[in-house]
Amino acid sequence: MNDLTCIIIGGGHAGLHSLKAIKETTRGMANGRRIRFVLFDKQPGHVRKVLLFRPATSGEEIMIPWTHYLSEGVEFVQGTVTSVDSGEKRIRYTDAHGNDARIHYDLLVVAVGSIVRRPDPDQGGIALTDPQAAADIRERWSANLRKAAGETNPEERKRLLTLAVVGAGISGIETSAELALAMREEASALGLNPFETSVYLLNAQERLFPGGPEKVGRMLELTLSECGVTVLHNRKAMREEAGVVTLSNGESLAVGLSIWTIGLIPNPALRSMGLPLTPEGQVLVDECYRVKGAPGVYSIGDCARIVDPRTGKADQMRCGEGVIQADRLGKIVMADLEGRPAPVHKSVPLDFFCIGLGENRGLVWGRKWGLNMIITGKPAWKFRNLAWDGGSMLR
Ligand SMILES: Cc1cc2nc3c(=O)[nH]c(=O)nc-3n(C[C@H](O)[C@H](O)[C@H](O)COP(=O)(O)OP(=O)(O)OC[C@H]3O[C@@H](n4cnc5c(N)ncnc54)[C@H](O)[C@@H]3O)c2cc1C
Repeated sequence: MNDLTCIIIGGGHAGLHSLKAIKETTRGMANGRRIRFVLFDKQPGHVRKVLLFRPATSGEEIMIPWTHYLSEGVEFVQGTVTSVDSGEKRIRYTDAHGNDARIHYDLLVVAVGSIVRRPDPDQGGIALTDPQAAADIRERWSANLRKAAGETNPEERKRLLTLAVVGAGISGIETSAELALAMREEASALGLNPFETSVYLLNAQERLFPGGPEKVGRMLELTLSECGVTVLHNRKAMREEAGVVTLSNGESLAVGLSIWTIGLIPNPALRSMGLPLTPEGQVLVDECYRVKGAPGVYSIGDCARIVDPRTGKADQMRCGEGVIQADRLGKIVMADLEGRPAPVHKSVPLDFFCIGLGENRGLVWGRKWGLNMIITGKPAWKFRNLAWDGGSMLR
């Protein structure tokens, strides 16, 4: 009998964990047929998206070659999937050489994720969107520091040593903390006073971490200030032009560079893939991640709108949620293949966040039954590292 082909589109956190979960629950067989797994991704390796700020601060490599994830029965195809023909059970893609190609599937997991939101082009600055943008950011602030070392005009020198991070979500918090520490270190190496460097974090809200207790917001702000970050609340950056960031309250900041970390949006490529979408652009799935009207097709992670049927609560675009969905997807696929009732989505049973604040500093916050749990300092940093590595299956 022929093999069954299971295709996973997207080797991000959700796609990789789906591949593992489906492979493990099915043990590579369904109804006496061998399952052939094919992982598709447009990139030459898995990008550790949660560490996107690292190439911007330290130049760290965050792409892991696919060979790390491939095992027996799993193939990898580098290609950009352009559409899904659910009637013919085929996907269409552009391969690494730019050729148009098609491949048949029996089971399909769509995990094409999200992209980082960009400001309008006339707003200036640089968005932390991908490893190349991150490398450009590192090049720009290091060049500014080198220029500052030879600058005699004190105002210009101050500007060159100042940087603004626009957007104070978790990504902005982590980026600003690591940037402030990296800038201080590089300033010292150049013979500059490290305390002359400044990083501003621009927060549109009135406090940090509005989804958790006020105390957590205050603790984050205190640790950020120890790293050298000044948080400006209730201010939106309107635009950066010629080294000046104009703020919504009429103030302005002279900066050498502004970096925008203003959230995620569902992958816009979904708009032309031929799958049913919500108005916001996420794939419409049922409570078992099955794509509506497309037999054998499932979708999870940032690209899918996944709702807990008991509470009506939708999962957020977060790595943690995607990994839990992927584990459940393994059981769902197995149940569907065997014609049994499948497990149903449940939202994560507790509010839980862990935030890295630079080497040996972090904050973990969880809430269950109204009780808050907070871990700080080195233990939180260790926890953070475990979560980062776990998300990319490096542990
Ligand atoms: C800077 C930053 C920090 C973050 N920090 C955290 C955090 O601390 N905790 C947390 O839980 N979440 C965090 N997130 C969010 C987290 O990164 C996402 O929730 C997670 O990456 C979603 O995983 P995913 O697999 O659904 O999608 P993605 O990680 O976006 O992966 C999608 C994959 O699909 C591939 N792809 C896209 N389009 C196509 C196509 N057409 N054809 C083929 N392949 C395609 C991409 O190359 C990619 O490999 C952070 C995000 C950013 C940007």
